Amino acid sequence: EVILLDSKAQQTELEWISSPSTGWEEISGLDENYTPIRTYQVCQVMESNQNNWLRTNWIEKGDAQRIFVELKFTLRDCNSLPGVVGTCKETFNLYYQETDAEVGRNIRESQYVKIDTIAADESFTQGDLGERKMKLNTELRIIGPLSRRGFYLAFQDVGACIALVSVKVYYKKCWSIIENLATFPDTVTGSEFSSLVEVEGTCVSDAEEEADNSPKMHCSAEGEWLVPIGKCICKAGFHQKGDACEPCGRGFYKSSSQDLQCSRCPAHSYNDREGSWRCDCEDGYYRALSDPPAVTCTRPPSAPQNLVYNINQTTVSLEWSSPADNGGRNDVTYRIMCRRCGWEPEECLPCGGNVGYLPAQSGLVDAYVTITDLLAHANYTFEVEAVNGVAAGTTFELIKEKVQQRSVQLSWQEPEQPNGVITEYEIKYYEKDQKDRIYSTVKSKSTSATVNNLKPSTAYVFQIRAFTAAGYGTFGPRLEVTTKEEPSGTASTEQNPVIIIAVVAVAGTIILVFMVFGFIIGRRYALAVKFPGTKTYIDPETYEDPNRAVHQFAKELDASCIKIERVIGAGEFGEVCSGRLKLPGKRDVPVAIKTLKVGYTEKQRRDFLCEASIMGQFDHPNVVHLEGVVTRGKPVMIVIEYMENGSLDAFLRKHDGQFTVIQLVGMLRGIAAGMRYLSDMGYVHRDLAARNILVNSNLVCKVSDFGLSRVIDDDPEAVYTTTGGKIPVRWTATEAIQYRKFTSSSDVWSYGIVMWEVMSYGERPYWDMSNQDVIKAIEEGYRLPAPMDCPPGLHQLMLDCWQKDRADRPKFDQIVGILDKMIRNPNTLKTPLGTCTRPISPLLDQNTPDFATFRSVGDWLEAIKMERYNDNFTATGYSSLESVARMTIEDVMSLGITLVGHQKKIMSSIQTMRAQMLHLHGTGVQV
Ligand code: AMP
Repeated sequence: EVILLDSKAQQTELEWISSPSTGWEEISGLDENYTPIRTYQVCQVMESNQNNWLRTNWIEKGDAQRIFVELKFTLRDCNSLPGVVGTCKETFNLYYQETDAEVGRNIRESQYVKIDTIAADESFTQGDLGERKMKLNTELRIIGPLSRRGFYLAFQDVGACIALVSVKVYYKKCWSIIENLATFPDTVTGSEFSSLVEVEGTCVSDAEEEADNSPKMHCSAEGEWLVPIGKCICKAGFHQKGDACEPCGRGFYKSSSQDLQCSRCPAHSYNDREGSWRCDCEDGYYRALSDPPAVTCTRPPSAPQNLVYNINQTTVSLEWSSPADNGGRNDVTYRIMCRRCGWEPEECLPCGGNVGYLPAQSGLVDAYVTITDLLAHANYTFEVEAVNGVAAGTTFELIKEKVQQRSVQLSWQEPEQPNGVITEYEIKYYEKDQKDRIYSTVKSKSTSATVNNLKPSTAYVFQIRAFTAAGYGTFGPRLEVTTKEEPSGTASTEQNPVIIIAVVAVAGTIILVFMVFGFIIGRRYALAVKFPGTKTYIDPETYEDPNRAVHQFAKELDASCIKIERVIGAGEFGEVCSGRLKLPGKRDVPVAIKTLKVGYTEKQRRDFLCEASIMGQFDHPNVVHLEGVVTRGKPVMIVIEYMENGSLDAFLRKHDGQFTVIQLVGMLRGIAAGMRYLSDMGYVHRDLAARNILVNSNLVCKVSDFGLSRVIDDDPEAVYTTTGGKIPVRWTATEAIQYRKFTSSSDVWSYGIVMWEVMSYGERPYWDMSNQDVIKAIEEGYRLPAPMDCPPGLHQLMLDCWQKDRADRPKFDQIVGILDKMIRNPNTLKTPLGTCTRPISPLLDQNTPDFATFRSVGDWLEAIKMERYNDNFTATGYSSLESVARMTIEDVMSLGITLVGHQKKIMSSIQTMRAQMLHLHGTGVQV
């Protein structure tokens, strides 16, 4: 609550404007706790025609749209004041005026809008000594939507004895909160009771919005946050702790925002920073490009072992066994390096493309290879290298370009599959014959390098490796180069196994043959199953001649039996009328008559009659009954039993708050029984909603609106969805929206929505949210909350109907059973104490009748739409409003008014009437 005015909190004089000055008077007093307060009082009860106005100071509304006005006051009982009959009143009027700025001190009555007539609801109580004490009344009214910058409140006294003890003006806010790691700012509630204000959330620090799922919430008119949709998630390197994102600790990482938790660094990796998205590999360990951060860091494998060869003319076969250490990976393959050497070992050159490798030169999974097309009488060196994910492609050969006395120029080719983008190459070299192998290194960013400061006539060994984002790769094969002047040294065979062979032969060829298989596609069988004993619904579309379908299921009526009386609604195909049907030898009955408008097409006629073909197959007290059709005359008509109270949604809205829970559950039980019958028949409704339920005069609810797709096409609630076709989104199960899976179980979902509509007296499901947001909210598990005063057991049943998995939803049969049980044990329907009650509706819309204007009991009953009980009142002698005003609830019941909602409505009107006109007896206590 944000308070705009609180008269009690003010210490100094209020200085409101009183007009005339003989009217309202500012008086210091004490409140019920003896705290000093400022009050306004007026008590001009002796003279007639009082019109005393009191206006507050200007109240700036800020960003409020819906303003709450709470009044505390005492009102003197006229009967405690002798000699005031005829002039003393017991109510006063509350007004407001909207303005953009303060206006003058003159009160112009015509500029004020009346909020309500305020009466004391508990004006007098009996004190300990039998005296009547004045009681402090509290009344709350709501005004809005407001459009100007501020407003005044005004109190009009017409001759009562009033002390205005406190005036509090406030509006409601949804206070800033963090939900799903998103911050939602303070939000002022909307202007209407049923409107939600949609608010976008901002991710907390180190969080980001989940893809396509930005966080939203809805601020309700009551200042509560509702329906969270979407969320934020902690970024990589951060994890959720309460409503915040905290960095992963040292030795932990979180690679993606999608992951929930930080994980410990995998084996052979570490990090010494907080908030890491990955761990670095220990020295000598690597990750392949394709390795996710969660896998252990691995090493290149050790060398293959036990290399053996076999020479057959110009072909060499090599075989070996796997390396002793596969580096912790299971993607070890082999590759062959071939060099043809002169008889001096240091004069080796790559073999080039003339040599054949079977099955391949690299990527060998099995530990053998055959090398063909070698030159006869040549000297070859073969190296077999084991590679794995962290070594593959990172080793490559050095080529010597130019050898001089003190320098060697080297070049190489960029590896084919580098382990990431190569940022640098490193060449290490050492003097071959040096005992303690002191390495020197040279770095290069291009694919060549010159190594200087070498000794002449010295053998050097060079190796190269690449540096990528994944770290250094492994060194490639050794290249031995002897600087100019004094040639020396022999080929090294130290790390990778190498053999030198002379080859003298020719190889053969292998041909592969592929076989092609054909497939034979089997036939599909459709199987029709019939269950004995159950009447099954037959789709009228299966009839080639739609006229035959109609006459198979509907009785043809003679137009002369039908009397149309008046139009009651508009249907898709023409007017809906009420009238009477008189069949020969039977009593005439009230009916609804749907007509087909003139100038229809053949298709319209077929679709129109389709509803009759469907309805005619049903026979159940909770399914609207078809009397028959008129197809042979004009207009074409469908005649249906008459449902006096029309559609359920409108009916409930009209009677907001007037039924007992048992009555509401009774309605729901009827709908469930009708749906059980339809589902047993194998009929899927697809558009079950309160607007498609009809109510008769006995409050019996019946399922209506049958048809094929056309029913949904007509439904103004139906919208096109991405799956094609129109769907009433708010009433439809997820699977039916997503892939048009309509079943009795999706009807159960819709039934749950109907339950919610009924228990909230026709509130719109999901209020004014957009269809898109409804779909999203449901997808994220949001479900409608219990309506006001709804017993928890019923809400639970709704939630069961809205189970995501349709197999988990109850069947209509079970729903009927559950509701029957509740009706038998009404205790289960008690709302636990302390749950919220229905809010006071904006009183601007509420018309409190002025009883002085009623001349008779009949007038009054008509004004409160209870005229049907006129006879009950007159027959029992309540002919004057004075006598009615004295009635108690027992009196009302004794008239034979059995509907509790009606009893309540009549009683509350009587109480207001009493406050306006009744003179009670007793002694008042001076304020
Ligand atoms: P429909 O074309 O079936 O949606 O009907 C249009 C309107 O006519 C409904 O919303 C009802 O208010 C009214 N209506 C339809 N059928 C009946 C009926 N059997 N008894 C009373 N009113 C009906």
